[in-house]
Amino acid sequence: MQNFIRDIIEADLESGKHTTVVTRFPPEPNGYLHIGHAKAICVDFGLAQAFGGRCHLRMDDTNPDAEDVEYVEAIQRDVRWLGFEWGEPMYFASDYYERLYEHAVHLIRIGKAYVCSLTEDAMREHRGSLTEPGKPSPYRSRSVEENLDLFARMRAGEFAEGAHVVRLRGDMAAANMKLRDPAIYRIKRAPHYRTGDAWCIYPLYDYTHCLSDAFEGITHSICTLEFENNRDLYDWVLAQYEVSDVASPGTVPCRPRQIEFARLNLTYTMMSKRKLLQLVEEKRVQGWDDPRMPTLAGMRRRGFTPESIRAFCDLIGVAKNNSLVDVGKLEFCIRDDLNRRAPRAMCVLDPLEVELVDLPVALSSLAAPSFPAELELDGTRRLPVSERVFVEREDFADPPPARWHRLSPGAVVRLRHLGLVRCEEVERGADGAVQKLRCRYLGADEATAGTKAKGTLHWVSAQDALDIEVRIYDRLFDVEEPESLDQLNPRSLVVISNAKLEPSVAGAVAGASFQFERHGYFCVDPDSSTERLVFNRTVTLRDGWAKEEPRAREHDARPESREATRPEEQTRAPSVADLEGPVRARAEALVSAHGVSEAVAIVLASDATLLDLVEAAFTAGASGKAATLVANLVAGDLRARLSGTRGPLGFGGRELAELGGLVAAGTVTGAVAREVLGRLVEKGGSPADLVRELGATTLGQDALVLLIDEVLAAHPDEVARYRAGKTALLGFFVGQLMRRARGKADAKAAEELLRERLG
Ligand code: ATP
Ligand code: MG
Repeated sequence: MQNFIRDIIEADLESGKHTTVVTRFPPEPNGYLHIGHAKAICVDFGLAQAFGGRCHLRMDDTNPDAEDVEYVEAIQRDVRWLGFEWGEPMYFASDYYERLYEHAVHLIRIGKAYVCSLTEDAMREHRGSLTEPGKPSPYRSRSVEENLDLFARMRAGEFAEGAHVVRLRGDMAAANMKLRDPAIYRIKRAPHYRTGDAWCIYPLYDYTHCLSDAFEGITHSICTLEFENNRDLYDWVLAQYEVSDVASPGTVPCRPRQIEFARLNLTYTMMSKRKLLQLVEEKRVQGWDDPRMPTLAGMRRRGFTPESIRAFCDLIGVAKNNSLVDVGKLEFCIRDDLNRRAPRAMCVLDPLEVELVDLPVALSSLAAPSFPAELELDGTRRLPVSERVFVEREDFADPPPARWHRLSPGAVVRLRHLGLVRCEEVERGADGAVQKLRCRYLGADEATAGTKAKGTLHWVSAQDALDIEVRIYDRLFDVEEPESLDQLNPRSLVVISNAKLEPSVAGAVAGASFQFERHGYFCVDPDSSTERLVFNRTVTLRDGWAKEEPRAREHDARPESREATRPEEQTRAPSVADLEGPVRARAEALVSAHGVSEAVAIVLASDATLLDLVEAAFTAGASGKAATLVANLVAGDLRARLSGTRGPLGFGGRELAELGGLVAAGTVTGAVAREVLGRLVEKGGSPADLVRELGATTLGQDALVLLIDEVLAAHPDEVARYRAGKTALLGFFVGQLMRRARGKADAKAAEELLRERLG
């Protein structure tokens, strides 16, 4: 993405000022990296990458108090994890201590630095203010020899802390107060994590940073806006040295340019390392990698991917004015990335037992896609099916509120991938609390079930479910711009210890991400053991904090709206391949050799009598359209008629084949065929005879035309309105005609003729 820093670099390359771009990322190892650092890393490493240059990783470690090797290692880990490599070597400001000392001696020699022995308070008083110039320190006029001697003795450890500092001889009247003789060295009797006791004087930031950049040949030293005032000083220090390839205390290899950009501030997030350290030390969180922390270690554990963080940094861009970024943008990026990465799984957080009645016995597991079809990603998993399943307790309501799309007494819902069920019984405990539901399995899809589902629910098979712990995280602070640790969100962590997860996820390793359907994205926490998986919720499927409902995509929608709009194809029904035992081959043959739909084949496979009957009809000659008609009639109408009472049937495959043939040939309509089937069940006989008895042969064209004329004559007003352009009335005429035809009219032919006659 283009930004003002790229413009500067492009111009520098074009003008020949530089031929290679060298940037650096200079963290102080006094804490873990956070999402703000990620922005800086993406800028520093990203620009080097974009221009084929290098980016150095440098520990800016000149303060022995707070720095530690633990932090160095964490920083390396996090930069690598984010996807960036610094190559060899890794740089440390502490490696420059000797060289920095010599360069300070040079400044003293040329009269640009002196040893000042004012107390800290006195020094502050001398500095003046924004409106008043400062007063020179009485030590400003010390001779070079005296300064050199004192500096050497400071290094040798002859003085107490605070006794002396080395200051630049800047300009005590400068408008930029940073130039009013800033200190560059102080005495500090503390062991450093790398140099140990070798030094008791340490260089300060403004002196160290510009020289470190110059030593390393940095071309563009990019930092955040709070360093804008330091830039004059950065340039002032470097100007005291000659640019030369010959290393000496009076030279630097190059003169880098400091460029500032706006730091990242995020809503609901605190981002200063000092405050984060306080959270850790006061045990307000469980460590630097607590999944609620904005540290990269915490975000990694929470389930953020490096790609999502880089995408976020791209999205927010690089600018020169400070702003507050909505943390929702970060959450958007992780959702967007995990959508394509995290396989779907079903997890019930608050289990309610459901007994399924009429479940096809041969259906003990089924294959379900790991991703929604629109993503066009491969992958399936097996879902075990059993007569006891768990659904989400909050997915049942009695009585149901208005527009309830889930379970309630009598309601029909879809159990995702499994099929439709009707809630028939509610078992309550002595206290009235719902303990268990009994639901009837109606079929794999709406056509076989003969009814519509109100919504789609997730579920898991009770006997197969994994018992897992789920940690539900929310924002660590519940105010938009937190300022104090007292603004922590008391509900930032809720632990659910008895959630039920589908078993396909067993064996998932720490860091693996899944979408628990309807609940959000979750990832395996390193606290998991082989016996018990622990999951962290990375993010919900939609932004629960948004003031206005965002235009959510299908898979992000709230359950209610998703259920209301989810088209049938979105949820896959079981297929014959999911069946077990010998019926599977027979069901497969129905589908492949006879064109029967999978849902119908599954229904037939669960009932030996029906399956035998259909196969007998095929043997008796039912083929093509007649074959599928027979299968549908048997799985639908016949199954419904026979349910409960089941004596020997007075007809067989031959009769069914004959009936199917009559419909296929257009001799009778489907409606008539159902009626004939009813008579066959009651008293048997021959379908052709029954049709004749009923006088139910499908009406021919002439008969239809007569009926149409009757209909049109009976409704002159509607005819006039139709002819005046209200063609939507066609349906009305078709309905009238079909009623008069008593099921004997072929609907399609009737509609065509009607259209013709109405002109
Ligand atoms: P903090 O202010 O959070 O304590 P810091 O600036 O003291 O962090 P450093 O280790 O000095 O931490 O930072 C290393 C680099 O990361 C610096 O160049 C700094 O400008 C950059 N950086 C730190 N915080 C942010 C932020 N919020 N947005 C962008 N860059 C940042
Ligand atoms: Mg800082």
